[in-house]
Amino acid sequence: MPAAYLEAHGNGRLDESLRRSLQWMKVCTLCPRLCKVNRLENEKGYCRTGRYAVVASYGPHFGEEKPLVGKRGSGTIFFSYCNLGCVFCQNYEISHGGEGREVEPDELADIMLQLQQGGCHNINFVTPTHVIPQILEALPLAIRRGLHVPLVYNTGGYDRVSALKLLDGIVDIYMPDFKFWDPQVSGKLSDAPDYPHRAREALREMHRQVGDLRMDAGGIAEKGLLVRHLVMPGGLAGTEGVLHFIAEEISRSTYVNIMSQYHPCGEAVGSSLIGRTITSREFDDALRVAEREGLTRLDERHKHWLTFEL
Ligand code: SF4
Repeated sequence: MPAAYLEAHGNGRLDESLRRSLQWMKVCTLCPRLCKVNRLENEKGYCRTGRYAVVASYGPHFGEEKPLVGKRGSGTIFFSYCNLGCVFCQNYEISHGGEGREVEPDELADIMLQLQQGGCHNINFVTPTHVIPQILEALPLAIRRGLHVPLVYNTGGYDRVSALKLLDGIVDIYMPDFKFWDPQVSGKLSDAPDYPHRAREALREMHRQVGDLRMDAGGIAEKGLLVRHLVMPGGLAGTEGVLHFIAEEISRSTYVNIMSQYHPCGEAVGSSLIGRTITSREFDDALRVAEREGLTRLDERHKHWLTFEL
């Protein structure tokens, strides 16, 4: 199956999305923060990213979901900064500290090509919401130099539907987190009380665009939706609500990665609320909820970071 963006490049849709996304940067409303700063003039809003994307690192990644990794890895590009403010972020230095370096479109295109030439099965944009225009700007340059592997939009889930529509027919694989069900919790831990509402809308739009995850004969993802849910200590993620929503309102055939590897990072270290890993019982409970909801396409991962209860 050819990558979606090749057709969009041919029929002018990619150019149109790029043109519109650059317009949006003038009064930035790319994400639900609606900062309205002029990023074309390098003004910075909540995400502290101006005209150009900041890249922290890139390379083949073997810790992602099985259908993305295959034998040769997922070609991850980690963007610095974020439009969420998660106090427990597992990449705190990148998302809050902004470790990394600004890259212009030509260099970003080169990075994509390097990853493809290294054998990666896809280009995996990590934390892309605030740099949609920069990705769209680099993409035609990369296509002209031979880019052809699928694109993965690997997001925290705090996205605007109208911005996602710019990516319709361009992104092949959406991989959003669905972090929290309770607005009070998302307000406290991610500085975004509207996160659950935004994530529900985003998942609906992503699924409308690409459908359930499809793989080739070798088990490598080609197109579709893959949802991540990190189980949090003390039930704070609202796992029951999240999995019920996915089953009832997205699809019971959704590919879901229920993740056990939460460990305290950043401001979570020493916290009475989230200063511990999850227990084996908490993770098993999450798996039981998935089973009850009829979600059977679960990523096969090993349990990490568990404490065992006596
Ligand atoms: S992308 Fe950045 S500047 Fe634009 S609205 Fe979101 S947080 Fe604000």
